[in-house]
Amino acid sequence: MADSFVFRPSENIAALKESATIAVSQRAKALKAEGREIIDLGAGEPDFDTPAPIRAAAAAAVEQGATRYTAVEGILPLREAIAADANRAYRGPDRVTPAEVVVSNGSKQSLYNACVALFGPGDEVLVPTPSWTSYYEMVGLARATAVEVHGDPARGFKVDPARLAAHATPRTRGLMLNSPSNPTGGVYAPNELRAILDLAADRGWWVISDEIYVRISYDAPAPGALDVATRRDNLVVVNGVAKAYAMTGWRIGWTISPAPLAKAMNAFQSHTTSNAATVSQHAALAALTLGAPVEAEVQSMVAEFRKRRDAALPILRGAGLTVLEPAGAFYFYIKAPGTGADAGAAFCTALLEREGVAIVPGSAFRTPDWVRVSYAAAESQVVEACRRIARVAADIGVG
Ligand code: GLU
Repeated sequence: MADSFVFRPSENIAALKESATIAVSQRAKALKAEGREIIDLGAGEPDFDTPAPIRAAAAAAVEQGATRYTAVEGILPLREAIAADANRAYRGPDRVTPAEVVVSNGSKQSLYNACVALFGPGDEVLVPTPSWTSYYEMVGLARATAVEVHGDPARGFKVDPARLAAHATPRTRGLMLNSPSNPTGGVYAPNELRAILDLAADRGWWVISDEIYVRISYDAPAPGALDVATRRDNLVVVNGVAKAYAMTGWRIGWTISPAPLAKAMNAFQSHTTSNAATVSQHAALAALTLGAPVEAEVQSMVAEFRKRRDAALPILRGAGLTVLEPAGAFYFYIKAPGTGADAGAAFCTALLEREGVAIVPGSAFRTPDWVRVSYAAAESQVVEACRRIARVAADIGVG
């Protein structure tokens, strides 16, 4: 009999790294608990309350008995609402049906369901880089290989078919798309998106299109994959209510995919988590179906994000920093001042220690000489944080 057990990570998680976006905000919370005054621009979490009509609908649903399991794939009215939305966008030959929708505990789970169902050992998945930290890890957890396809900073890091094709091999099985992008705020134009979808269809790749920021777009509405797709038999659209409706804690996301894949993801989810929280599904249903009162709040939150962006960007640029102008989402992606292999992490550490501002190092997004600032916080906080960023950048030396 063994005297003691020593934990050794299984092969499944041997290479796994903790989520840097979450780690930063946990560190910020810990410092606040110690009494330090911290401005947390780490995690991308809207600071608004969930709109009142949604909260009221959720409370009423609980009173009416929405407290039990639902179907693993989610309640039918919610899947119908999601399918109806998709059909407003999609003009291809076939209609999206509720059977092609799987509701989960957040778009993170939906992305993971898709990665596990589609990719496995020996497969390669193209990931436009920089990308959100969890894509790389989720592809790895599926035991496939994430292939970084670095975009050109001069084009806001957006990738095009030529760049993607240059990284393809016979083992390429799919690609991750994210527009508006976390962390760059870049938005793909309809023709750019269509060109990538055409390449994927041509090459027999799956496309996982993460559209969690699609409603947060400042110039024109950001196109989703279904707006431009002419076919969708290789397409998984992932979305959720977290960002647009300020519903991060409710944990509701979904996939729209061909039915056989939906069935496989449903089987997988039936063993991992069963249905997403019943009350949250009713809240999401309210978000998607209540219409005008909720839409007005979404619009005013987007307008507020825009106001913050416009107030803070000149401060950062005035300090001589290279900052991408976000056309969507709510992040500034900034070239870290200073030199060295991990200039971004060094800058984040200096900023937190000297000025009490928490931001995320670009290494989380596989571009270690950049940093990400979330402006999903009160304007006064964002502006003050950017002044502090400017101060530390001036000390380190920009240029
Ligand atoms: N997606 C947000 C972010 O990038 C929330 C945290 C997370 O899930 O990564 O900050």
